[in-house]
Amino acid sequence: MTAHGPHPTAGYPWGPGPSVSFEFFPAADERRERALWQALRQVEELSPAFVSVTYGAGGSTRTGTIELARRIAAETSMRPVAHLAAVGHSTAELRDTLARYADAGIRDVLALRGDPPGDPRGPWTPHPQGVEYAYQLVEIVKEAGDFTIGVAAFPERHPRSADWDSDIEHFVAKCRAGADYAVTQMFFHVEDYLRLRDRVAAAGCDTPIIPEIMPATDVRQISRFAELSDAAFPEDLAHRLEAARDNPGEAHRIGVEFATAMAERLLAEGAPGLHYCTLNRPRAALDIHRAVMGAASSDAR
Ligand code: FAD
Repeated sequence: MTAHGPHPTAGYPWGPGPSVSFEFFPAADERRERALWQALRQVEELSPAFVSVTYGAGGSTRTGTIELARRIAAETSMRPVAHLAAVGHSTAELRDTLARYADAGIRDVLALRGDPPGDPRGPWTPHPQGVEYAYQLVEIVKEAGDFTIGVAAFPERHPRSADWDSDIEHFVAKCRAGADYAVTQMFFHVEDYLRLRDRVAAAGCDTPIIPEIMPATDVRQISRFAELSDAAFPEDLAHRLEAARDNPGEAHRIGVEFATAMAERLLAEGAPGLHYCTLNRPRAALDIHRAVMGAASSDAR
């Protein structure tokens, strides 16, 4: 992938060259756990820079995150990034979780504020002994030990931000509190990523921002995407997926083709890496990755 444009290397914990990484979540039962481990082994063959493990998202528990990240660290050649969300926790509990992460061999944390449980768009109330914003969690992680720290970035701006200026100001403050890199919310328009990156750079911040790639291969996923994020879904893609509603093979092809074009353009624009959301089913992410690698090696020839 070195055929692509410039990308930051200084201080980037995932080494030189665009990084490839994948997001998973702790499985809810034994059957899903087996499928998850098959998926992890498939991804391991690509030697990704890291695999991330979500925290509390989709009803999973703190124990689930620690246990999955611990096993990835102990039983695979991959480096787990454990997410940590501040919502609902006192600072003492957050420090305790970080101590458990360290004991479990986890050296990398994605520090998040989290959303209100139940209704992610409901009123945000900090824990009385907790923190209000992610930058405070970044400070706690920094004090807790020798972790690399990632934070969240929002190409369409955080839904609770009043305007772009305050959004960028707070993001930059979060980076300056000690973030090594950021990972974005899913998005479907490359311009949104570029606008965010350029605004952050114009504010004097050079924290690398890794775009998240969400493969959209099924029209039924689209409403779920809307629930999970405020990402604007391209109408044309929605129509094409709708037309292929009863043809999963064609829908897969359409989604992979769209995401591959996005990923190639992001790398050409100098994105520091690609972080694939897998929803624990990495087939589409792997197809996109192979297509991107194929394009990169033919560019190089
Ligand atoms: P913050 O950076 O605190 O920002 C929240 C809002 O507060 C923003 O509008 C910001 O501008 C504003 N703000 C920040 N600082 C200040 C200040 N000093 N004064 C006034 N306003 C301020 N959630 C989970 O629960 N578990 C997960 O595993 C998980 N994984 C995620 C992974 C990624 C890559 C992303 C992008 C999100 C993930 N989330 C997860 C969701 C995330 O927790 C929510 O999107 C949350 O709303 C984002 O918080 P943040 O960490 O960006 O918060």
